[in-house]
Amino acid sequence: MYSQRIGELVPKKIESLYQGRIRQFTDANGQYRELNLPAFYDRKRVHAGQVKLEVYSVPDLERPLFKEVMKKAEWMEASIGESFGPSWATHWFKVQVAVPDGWKDYKEPAVFDFDSSDEGFLYLEDGTPQVGLSGEHKRREWEIPSKWYDGNWHTFYIETACNNIQGLGAPPPTNLQFRLNTADLVVPNAAARALNIDFWIIGDAAREFPGDSWQKHRALDVLNRIMNTFDYDNPDESIAKAREIAQEYIGPNVDSSRVYAQPNNAVGPVNAESSIVYAMGNCHIDTAWLWPFAETRRKIARSWASQLNLIERYPEYKFSASQAVQFSWLLEDHPDLFDRVKQAVKDGSFIPVGGAWVECDTNMPSGESLARQVLLGQAFFKEHFNMQSRIFWLPDTFGYSPQLPQICRLAGMDRFLTQKLSWNNVNVFPNSTFNWVGLDGSQVLCHMPPANTYTAEAHFGEVKRSISQHKNLDTEQHGLLLFGHGDGGGGPTAEMLEKLRRCRGLADQVGELPRVDVGRTVDDFYDVILQNTNQGSSLVSWVGELYLEYHRGTYTTQAFIKESNRRAEVLMHDAELLATCASLHDDKFNYPYEQLRGTWRLVCQNQFHDVLPGSSIGEVYKEARGLYTKIFQSGYKIIDDALEALGYEPDSSAEVNTLPWARSELKKLTVGIESDDTVLSNEWLAVTLVNGVVSRIFDKRVKRDVLLPGTAGHLVLFEDQPTNFPAWDTEVYATEKGVTLVPDSEELKDDVHIAHYKFKKSKAVVYTSLHDDQLRVRIDVDWHETYQFLKAEWHPDIVSDFATYETSFGMHRRPTHFNTTWEAAKFEACGHKFADLSDWNYGVSLLTNSKYGYSIHGKRMRLSLLRSPKSPDADADMGKHSIEYRLLMHRGPMSPQVVRAAYEFNYPPLSYRAVKGAKDLDLFTVDCENVVITAVKLGESERKNEVIVRMYEAMGGRNRMTLTSKMKLKQATRVNLLEQEVGDDLELDESSLELEINPFEIVTLRLRVA
Ligand SMILES: [Zn+2]
Repeated sequence: MYSQRIGELVPKKIESLYQGRIRQFTDANGQYRELNLPAFYDRKRVHAGQVKLEVYSVPDLERPLFKEVMKKAEWMEASIGESFGPSWATHWFKVQVAVPDGWKDYKEPAVFDFDSSDEGFLYLEDGTPQVGLSGEHKRREWEIPSKWYDGNWHTFYIETACNNIQGLGAPPPTNLQFRLNTADLVVPNAAARALNIDFWIIGDAAREFPGDSWQKHRALDVLNRIMNTFDYDNPDESIAKAREIAQEYIGPNVDSSRVYAQPNNAVGPVNAESSIVYAMGNCHIDTAWLWPFAETRRKIARSWASQLNLIERYPEYKFSASQAVQFSWLLEDHPDLFDRVKQAVKDGSFIPVGGAWVECDTNMPSGESLARQVLLGQAFFKEHFNMQSRIFWLPDTFGYSPQLPQICRLAGMDRFLTQKLSWNNVNVFPNSTFNWVGLDGSQVLCHMPPANTYTAEAHFGEVKRSISQHKNLDTEQHGLLLFGHGDGGGGPTAEMLEKLRRCRGLADQVGELPRVDVGRTVDDFYDVILQNTNQGSSLVSWVGELYLEYHRGTYTTQAFIKESNRRAEVLMHDAELLATCASLHDDKFNYPYEQLRGTWRLVCQNQFHDVLPGSSIGEVYKEARGLYTKIFQSGYKIIDDALEALGYEPDSSAEVNTLPWARSELKKLTVGIESDDTVLSNEWLAVTLVNGVVSRIFDKRVKRDVLLPGTAGHLVLFEDQPTNFPAWDTEVYATEKGVTLVPDSEELKDDVHIAHYKFKKSKAVVYTSLHDDQLRVRIDVDWHETYQFLKAEWHPDIVSDFATYETSFGMHRRPTHFNTTWEAAKFEACGHKFADLSDWNYGVSLLTNSKYGYSIHGKRMRLSLLRSPKSPDADADMGKHSIEYRLLMHRGPMSPQVVRAAYEFNYPPLSYRAVKGAKDLDLFTVDCENVVITAVKLGESERKNEVIVRMYEAMGGRNRMTLTSKMKLKQATRVNLLEQEVGDDLELDESSLELEINPFEIVTLRLRVA
């Protein structure tokens, strides 16, 4: 009954004070810790007398596997408080525990709590891997097997690696030590720990819900009542009561997967019963970055073992992992663990995604490399898991080639995922869910998780932002949340799954928070989008490259890996072509399938998104150089064997042309000296050098001055101090502070002009010569700079509002102006073998065989040569370099002539000569100069008469074309990049066939030869 007279007076709650009080209740480091909930997380905790530790410190920074350790370990006593090192060392702990009497009476199973302040991996005595451990991310506990409650001592092992989950620094010091902090047996207090998470999520609601929502104020009230109910002197009973109060807000089902059982309206218009946030467990493991490849192998095993453990404990949970190379390493190092992964894949709880060998860079790899990334990746998934990924998973790569949509579609993938464009430092990318349309018009369904991370911690705020930051809610209302610690953090934790259960419970109980679902697959998510958008037709589209407005230094940093990548791509082309010729001409020649596949795997491995871009530590580049040594040895051996079988012998005359067209012949060069100037001239061009630099290029064919009067071909040195990430970034302001370098001396030697430079701590010699319609430049640099950026600069007198850059399987245009911030953001851009500036009747192309960074704006073309960042590799690019590039002066607009000249530069004739009876090497030719054959190989099916020929249309035009073979053809079939049939057989005319090729189309044919 409402009493007539007032009883106790109640003050109005001052929100800021009550918010402050909330923080104190669960603050594990606060001044009232011992009086509040954190004092009760453990019921029992023991070390002395129940835990014995011994250690084997592995010498020489080696990383032996369990079996080897058991053979050679010499165990020494170890104790808490000792430190272990140095950086990157491995220490194995032999742990013996005796569970105290009486512990089996607790309803909670005991756990072993271990913290060595670095990464650990726990094995049973028989070598069975259990879980990864890392003190850094609250991944410290392992549940004691139930049969160990017998009073006896039991043994297990922990391998520790002296590195943190994100390496040891950039660059990493060599002498770090790691303290062994904890090795305890613990009985956890499940209810107290559960209340902590209840309180955490309701606390987030009290903080993050809008002030005009009733849910915010209700949360504050619930929390206040929980704190008033908690009784330090009667913890068990009061915690149970407090949890009942929590349930008013988060519902009764948060302690099990039942919380997800309520209806979920996935398809059709979203309503109150729709789960609109799909939370996906994953653990982005960089294949190498601030730690070497060798450590990644262990991070994978630790992380995925932990995930298998979590899958057993949380029935609602599914985990996704990408990068076939990582699965292949697990298979090599831990076949037992691989079998468990395989079973989990079968059960649908462990889901391979990505379809590529590594999560590669896509700015720099050639089209053919990208084709191999997906061929190798999907083949591995098919072989071991009998599945193919439908999604190209590249959350962290630094920009995306405009040919990726077509490459995806040709590899069985119609879906694409990234979130990297949320890192743009100029413009905000306007879409979250959209059709991404590539160069040829192919599209993929793209989603960029709106929480802008792939390593979410499943916080309340991240669930909320998965919708509130979604940029296409007008069309489709689902958002993906990628949660889990990456890079050795081991992926999702039990705590994250507990938080998500409460987020879902909360959404069902009080609303306001988007309903989150766990345990849907990535494919489920994309299926729902397609179903809700009339198969994508109501989604907006983004046409062309996904340029990352960040990390623009990665086209240049670590010059050796860029150069080696280009060389390796050319080498693999030549090796496959010649091995195919040899095996078709000579029955005794065995096509080296395994060797080629193995070598391609290494080429692809080095294209990982922190390796090829130059953003890894020095140790990684030592490993990468080792891989290239193997690649080059293997490639040259294959070429040598094949050419021998084909009737060629090594010779300096370099007669072997591996391009499918006759190379253009070089014209005779004459050099004259007029007055003080040097003029290099032939019948086409006259090149004048003044004070050691090219100051005039006159094209005699069209009587045209090529360069803007008053300009010259210079080396320019820029101060290069980005605001973040030195190896990754160069900022637009760096282009404001450049010094034009002036040669100290010059000379003319055998038709070559030589200029000598000294600047700061470095020296350079520039060799300039004239060949045909090309100016050839070689720059030998001894480079010892700090935060300087060296570029070559030319000013062709050409007016065009766009420049053309070669990319994978094609070319694309970028504006040459800075009209809006979108164009201005592309002040430095990636290109492959050429970049071109042309008007309708004349043009100049920069051709390169090792560089990828260009900037072409107004009448200025720059080629990025060398950078000198000091982090994460302090020695990046220091020392000697020999860089070549060419300037091609062409009549008419950008044409196939440019494409071919760039190929000819990159694919020099091989140093062999034909001996008597030598076989033809141009097995396949096309009659269109805008079509380039990029691969001739035997099919993956390993049938000896089955040849794969891949080509692409390079200019952006449709053609009827003829492919002609030197062999008789029995059958021709169109296949995709995975060499699966995609159409009917093509009509044949003995040894040729006709087909239509569309603009920038990639065509792969399987040809059966007679
Ligand atoms: Zn990454």
